Amino acid sequence: ELTSKLESTFRRLRGYGKLTEKNIADSLKEIRRALLEADVNYKVVKDFVASVQKKAVGEEVLRSVTPGQMIVKIVHDEMVRLLGGTTATLKTAGIPPTIIMLVGLQGSGKTTFAAKLAKYLQKKNRKPLLVAADVYRPAAIQQLKILGRSINVPVYEEGIGDPVKIAFNAISYARQHMLDTIILDTAGRLHIDEQMMEELVKIKKRIRPHEILFVADGMTGQDAVNTASQFAERLNFDGVVLTKMDGDARGGAALSIKAITGKPIKFMGVGEKLEDIEQFHPDRMASRILGMGDVVTLVEKAQETIDQEKAAKLEQKLRKAEFDLEDFLDQLQQIKKMGSLESILRMIPGVGSQLKNAQVDEKNLVRVEAIINSMTKEERRNPKILNGSRRKRIAMGSGTRVQDVNQLMRQFEQMKKMMKQMKNKSFRGFGGMPFG
Ligand code: GDP
Ligand code: MG
Repeated sequence: ELTSKLESTFRRLRGYGKLTEKNIADSLKEIRRALLEADVNYKVVKDFVASVQKKAVGEEVLRSVTPGQMIVKIVHDEMVRLLGGTTATLKTAGIPPTIIMLVGLQGSGKTTFAAKLAKYLQKKNRKPLLVAADVYRPAAIQQLKILGRSINVPVYEEGIGDPVKIAFNAISYARQHMLDTIILDTAGRLHIDEQMMEELVKIKKRIRPHEILFVADGMTGQDAVNTASQFAERLNFDGVVLTKMDGDARGGAALSIKAITGKPIKFMGVGEKLEDIEQFHPDRMASRILGMGDVVTLVEKAQETIDQEKAAKLEQKLRKAEFDLEDFLDQLQQIKKMGSLESILRMIPGVGSQLKNAQVDEKNLVRVEAIINSMTKEERRNPKILNGSRRKRIAMGSGTRVQDVNQLMRQFEQMKKMMKQMKNKSFRGFGGMPFG
C-alpha cells in the first residue's frame, strides 16, 4: 500500500544523520515506485519526482540539521500542490436556487453522493431539492426517493421522461417551495457513450448549472482519471467527487486527477452511509497519504457529534497517546454516531496502513462495549490489573469468552503502542509540519 511504502521510505530517510545525493536518489526511486504501484499517472509521477528532486538536492537541505525531515516536508508540500493546493469550495448562486449537477459513469456513486450532499448542506441550514434526472431505470428514481425520504429532503421526479425538461421544471419547483439548492442526479452508462454525453451537454445548456461535479469511483485509479479527462473535454465540469475512498483506494486517482484535468477535487465519499462524506482538503489528504494521519478531520468529525469540551480532550489524548479503556468506551459510543468505524480509524496517525489486515467488523463493537461495560472503573483506568480471574469474571458478565477479552486487550495495547510510536516518530519529527 502507498502509505506504508512511503512510511518506510521516510523512516529510513529520517534515520540518516547526513544525506548525500546518493541516498536522496535512492529514496526518490522508492517514492517513484510506490506512486506508480498506487496507479498514479506516469507523467504525474515523473513531474512530481522531478520537482521534489530539484528542491531536495539544494544545498540548504543537505546542510540543514535534519535533512531527512526536510525532504519529508518537501514531499508533503509537493503532494499538497499536486492535490490542488487549497481547499476548493462549491459555488453558490447570487440568487437562489444554486444548481448542482452530478455526472459520471454508472455505479460511480452519483445517487448516493446526491443524498450525502443534500444531508451535508442541510446541516449547513440549506434547503436542498433532489432531482431524479436518471430516467432510464425506474429503480434509479426509486433509489433517490428512498434516500430523500430518509433524510427528509424533497425529491422532484416526473417518472420516465425527458431529463432536460425534468431538470428545467425542477427549477420552478424549487422556487415555488423556497428550496435554495438543486442537486441533479443524472444518468450514467457503464462506459463513455456519445448519447449520454449529448444528453448531459443539453441539460447543461438548458439549465446552466452553477456547479457541475464529476463523480468518480476512487478505487478505479487511472480508469477514473481517463474518464474524467473525457468528461472534462465535453462538459468542462467544475470539480471532482471521489467516492469509495474508504475501501482499497490506492490514492492513484486522487493524486492524478487534478494534474490531468485541471479540476480540483471538492468532496470524497468514504463509506456507504449518508454521513460518510468529507470535504476535500489537499493538506489533510497529503498527510493521510504520507501516513501522518489526519487529526484535524478526526477532531472536526468529533465536534459535529460530541461537545467541544470532549473533542478537545480527545485531541489531547490522541496526541499524547495516553487514553484508557474508559476513554475508549466513550469514544466507541461517539464514533458510532460519526460514521463508519473504519473511516474514523484511518484518520488516527499510524493506524491507516495497519488497518488493511485488521478488518473492522462493526458488529464487534457491540461485544467490545459489553466487555468494557463489565469492567470496574478501576480496571478501565488501569488495564494492567486485569489478571486471569478478573478476565474470567468480565467474560461471564459480558456474555463473551475469555479469548474475546484477551483479544480486546491486545488490540487496545497495540493501538496505544502505535499512537506512542507516532507521537515519537512523527509529531515530534515533523517539526515543520502543519500540526505539531
Ligand atoms: P450511481 O450509479 O453513480 O448512481 O451509483 P450509486 O450511488 O447507486 O452507487 C453505486 C454503489 O456504490 C452503491 O452500492 C453504493 O452504496 C456504493 N457507494 C457509493 N458511494 C460509496 C462510498 O463512498 N463508499 C462505499 N464503500 N460505497 C459507496
Ligand atoms: Mg444513480
